Amino acid sequence: MFYDVIIVGGGASGLSCALTLASARGRGWDWAESRKYLVIDNGRSDMNRALFKNVPGVDQGLKGTEVIEKIKNQINTFGGVDFLEDKVVKVEGSKGNFEVLTESGKKFSSEFVVLATGFHGFDIECEGVEVVDNPRSPKPGRVMLKHDGNYKVKEGLYVAGLLAGVSSMFACASGVGVQVAIDILSHWAGKPVVIHDVP
Ligand SMILES: Cc1cc2nc3c(=O)[nH]c(=O)nc-3n(C[C@H](O)[C@H](O)[C@H](O)COP(=O)(O)OP(=O)(O)OC[C@H]3O[C@@H](n4cnc5c(N)ncnc54)[C@H](O)[C@@H]3O)c2cc1C
Repeated sequence: MFYDVIIVGGGASGLSCALTLASARGRGWDWAESRKYLVIDNGRSDMNRALFKNVPGVDQGLKGTEVIEKIKNQINTFGGVDFLEDKVVKVEGSKGNFEVLTESGKKFSSEFVVLATGFHGFDIECEGVEVVDNPRSPKPGRVMLKHDGNYKVKEGLYVAGLLAGVSSMFACASGVGVQVAIDILSHWAGKPVVIHDVP
């Protein structure tokens, strides 16, 4: 099955990326309307262990698991995003023609891939990816992927969240997911876009 963007990892950054992509639908932009997105996640987000008191705009005392559900509900109001519980084991190919393989044997193709798998390690077989130490982690052994400074690992392949080397704070991780989504949307639009709503 073909998707326009496959997001690997459904934590803070992966879901934020999906939400921004989905929110481009329903605005009369022909280049966005029929896009399809897939989030593949194996359920191990750091948010599962978090109690949030300092996430901007989020009610203090919400559990990370509750925030995950809230973001998924937000995404579903726009539509266009499928969710799959599985582990990605391999990403191959190039822009416009990526193939993403999962542990359970499923195979998907896409124009873009966003890697948003957190900073605990990276064991996905993926050509052109360079794993290095994450300098913003207070704990040793955390990783990030080398990118061009704008979260591009190679043409069509982006990295988001802690795997992109930002600090382990929800807003930092989420912000990179949003930036990557906006860059992909801008590519399709052929010009810089933002997605703003007004009362
Ligand atoms: C105990 C704790 C408390 C925290 N408290 C706060 C706080 O108060 N305020 C704050 O701002 N931040 C807090 N954080 C940090 C915040 O939760 C993280 O910064 C944020 O979740 C990172 O987002 P991410 O998308 O990079 O990674 P994650 O949210 O960890 O998401 C990565 C996702 O990728 C999935 N994945 C990994 N490999 C694969 C694969 N091969 N295939 C498919 N899926 C895969 C994982 O299952 C996971 O769901 C806390 C973190 C922890 C651990």
